[in-house]
Order: sequence, then C-alpha cells, then structure tokens
Amino acid sequence: MPTQSPAFSAQSASSPLAHASIPRRDPGPRDVQIDILFCGVCHSDLHTARGEWPGVVFPVVPGHEIVGRVVRVGRDVADFKAGDLAAVGCMVDSCKACPNCAAGLEQYCDKEVTFTYNSPDRAFTTPPAATPPMTYGGYSKSIVVDRRFVLRVSPKLNLAAVAPLLCAGITTYSPLKHWGAGTGTKVGIVGLGGLGHMGVKFSHALGAETILFTTSPGKADDAKRLGADAVVLSRDEAQMKPHAGTFDLIINTVAVPHDLDQYTGLLKRDGTLCLVGAPSSPHPSPSIWNLLTKRRTIAGSMIGGIPETQEMLDFCAERGIVSDIELIPIQQINAAYDRMLRSDVRYRFVIDMASLS
Ligand code: NAP
Ligand code: ZN
Repeated sequence: MPTQSPAFSAQSASSPLAHASIPRRDPGPRDVQIDILFCGVCHSDLHTARGEWPGVVFPVVPGHEIVGRVVRVGRDVADFKAGDLAAVGCMVDSCKACPNCAAGLEQYCDKEVTFTYNSPDRAFTTPPAATPPMTYGGYSKSIVVDRRFVLRVSPKLNLAAVAPLLCAGITTYSPLKHWGAGTGTKVGIVGLGGLGHMGVKFSHALGAETILFTTSPGKADDAKRLGADAVVLSRDEAQMKPHAGTFDLIINTVAVPHDLDQYTGLLKRDGTLCLVGAPSSPHPSPSIWNLLTKRRTIAGSMIGGIPETQEMLDFCAERGIVSDIELIPIQQINAAYDRMLRSDVRYRFVIDMASLS
C-alpha cells in the first residue's frame, strides 16, 4: 500500500507552490526509503513548476538535490541500512540495458530515463501501469528510490550544503572532466548562480585558469573567493575583447536566451562552448563564421551518470567542497523563485525539510 508524504506542489503553471500530500510506493526488494533532510532549489524546478518547458504534467513536486537518511531498505539491498546518509539527484531510474546505461551514462539512456520529478513513474506499480503516475521530487518528507540511483555522501560535510552537488555540482563537474579542464587550460564559466558557482569551484579545484563571466558587478568579490582568477562583466565589450581566441572551454549556465557569438569568439582553435543552461526558448542562431574559422564547437551536456556523480561526491568529500547556500524554510519557496529570477541567489537556496511538518 502506498503511504502518503507531506510535500509542496504546484497545481498549475500559474499557481504558487503550496502544501500537498503525495503517495510514495512501498519499498520493493531493491528500493531504499529515505527521509529527506535537505533539498536544493534548482532553476529547473522553476522552469518546470511554471510550465516553461514542454511536456509538464501538473501537479508538479519539484526537487532533485536531495540529501536524507535511510529509514528502510528492500530485502535485496545489502549496502544501505536504516540510519545511513543517502542522496538522490536528477534521476531515479533508466532502462539499465542500453549502451549508454551500460557505460554509466544513464542520463543519456536510449529508452527512457526516469527523472526524479515529472517523469512517468514506471516503478510505482509492478507490473508498470499502462498510464503510470508521474514522479514527485524532493520538496517532500520522504522518497523511495531504486538502490542503483541512490548515492553516498560523507558525514564530514555540511549536509545542507552537499544537497546542491546532486544537480548543480554534477552538471558542471561532468563537462569540465569531459572536455579536459585542468592545469594549463583556460576555462570560462558564464553566470554566477547555482550551477555557475559550482563550475567556478570545480574548475579552480581541477587546476584550470578560471574566468567568470557575469552580468552582476556585485558578484565579483564572491567569484574570486570561490576560485575565479578573473571576473569579466559580459555586457562590457572592453572587458570581453582582450579574451578573444584564448579559451579552451566555456561552460554557459545562463537560463535565458542570449547572444552566443560573444562567447564563441573567445574560444581558441578547437575550443568548446558547452551549453548547460536550458532556456524555455532558443538562443538567437549563432554565427557560423565564428565556428568554422577556428573549428570551434558548440556542445551541450546534461547532468552526469551515477558513477560520475559518486566520483564527484567523493572528490568533494576529499577536498572539502560544498555549495554556498541560503537555507530556507519551505514556506519561503515562492519568494526564493522570484529572487532566483532576479539573479539574486548567493548561490543556492536549500530547503530545510524540517520546516515541512
Ligand atoms: P540560477 O541560479 O538562476 O543561475 C543562472 C545565472 O545566469 C544567474 O545567476 C545569472 O548570473 C545569469 N543570468 C541570469 N539572467 C541573465 C541574463 N539575462 N543574461 C546573462 N546571464 C544571466 O540557475 P541555475 O540553477 O544555475 O540553472 C541555470 C540553467 O541551467 C537553468 O536553465 C537550468 O534549468 C539549467 N540546468 C541544466 C542542467 C543540465 O543538465 N544541463 C542541470 C541543471 C540546471 P550572473 O548574475 O552572474 O550574470
Ligand atoms: Zn537541477
């Protein structure tokens, strides 16, 4: 029998998030049931709750930066037990058989990745229902997840500040690793929000020369404290110009459509502009000349697979890396969304789930 969990949900694209009660399945043999302690607030939560992306099914319970404590495990789960810390990111299931799943890149599953919220929940019933219910995310008291999508976190770190690693962290760590950020490379991070501030921390930790591009002059000191070697105001052409043709990699986290040519022109030969921001409408078409004259690439990257997410969490535990957060009670979530839209987050809101009683 499913149990009910308190949660916060959006009933429609125009309604604020409010108290709700949602069903959670009984843990099956391979499942882990987790009491959620903290959940980060990603801009993707806002895009989804406000119906900005295609295919949103309401009601929506957002939240995919989850840290909590295990309360119960299924009989086939040997390596988690009640009382352990556990974390869940953006995915809770995938086909587990296609070449991408076999490579530990479940986020690129050829069949159908099940995202932590707003995905058809094939695991809710056995056998799967013809029209499965949708998954509900971490703005809730409890969640039940297949062990294969549950991650380990170190008790040494501030758990609230660990939560954003599960999305903002892995989404920037993965492309930095894939495109070889490290000593001797020059990396740009565009936007100092949730993703961007983790991008700055990781790029610096990996040894790359790290430049932050921002629209907010007031964030320059913070960016340097977080690990940026220099800060460039992207709306000031005089500051952009000296960097032309010098970057190996630029990771762009901006959540709204904007001119990409100002960044492709900063890449070296064979440099890559990797888009991770996911605006609800397209960027203006980029200049082909900027690309072909120096064999430059515009690429995209989505979160990271489960093995790489665990690698990133272990890397953070070793180096003492966490997110810079503002801890909020869940009752402030709608105000937090409005501040996120004004780029006024220092640098990730995290919900203290004890506030959801
Ligand atoms: P966020 O905290 O709101 O940060 C976005 C930053 O973009 C802002 O802080 C701001 O930084 C900059 N910005 C805002 N408006 C801008 C504008 N008009 N022009 C230029 N820069 C602007 O958001 P987030 O949680 O980091 O998420 C960013 C995007 O990534 C969202 O679209 C989200 O859905 C997407 N995302 C993608 C993945 C993936 O797997 N690819 C995963 C998670 C999230 P400054 O003040 O420094 O300019
Ligand atoms: Zn996210």
